[in-house]
Amino acid sequence: MGWSKKEPSSAEIKSIEASLKQVEDQKREMIYQLGEVFYDSNRDAEVVDELYKDKVDTIKKLEYNCKVWNNRKLKTQGMRQCENCGNILPYESSFCNKCGYKLKAVSEELVII
Ligand SMILES: [Zn+2]
Repeated sequence: MGWSKKEPSSAEIKSIEASLKQVEDQKREMIYQLGEVFYDSNRDAEVVDELYKDKVDTIKKLEYNCKVWNNRKLKTQGMRQCENCGNILPYESSFCNKCGYKLKAVSEELVII
C-alpha cells in the first residue's frame, strides 16, 4: 500500500486555519445569540432553572453596573438620564422634560459580582 506522508504547503495550512477560524467564530456568534435570546426571555422570569440562574443573575448585575458607570459618566457632565424614556437632562432635574416621568435618585453604587 503506497502511503507517503505529504508535506502540506504553508499556504494550504493557512487556508485551512482560516476556514477553521471562520467556522469557530460563526459557532461562537451563534452561541452568543442563543444566550442573548435565552437571557431576554428569562431575565424577568419568576423562576429560572437552577442550571442557568447564576448566569442570568450575574448578567443582571452587569447590566446594572453598566447603568451605574453610565450615570457616573453623565454626572461628570452635570447630566443624568430619564429611567423611563432615556432622555438626557440636567443632573438636578426632578422631572423629565420629555415624558414627564418623576425622576428617582440616580444609582451611583456598583453591585458586587
Ligand atoms: Zn423621560
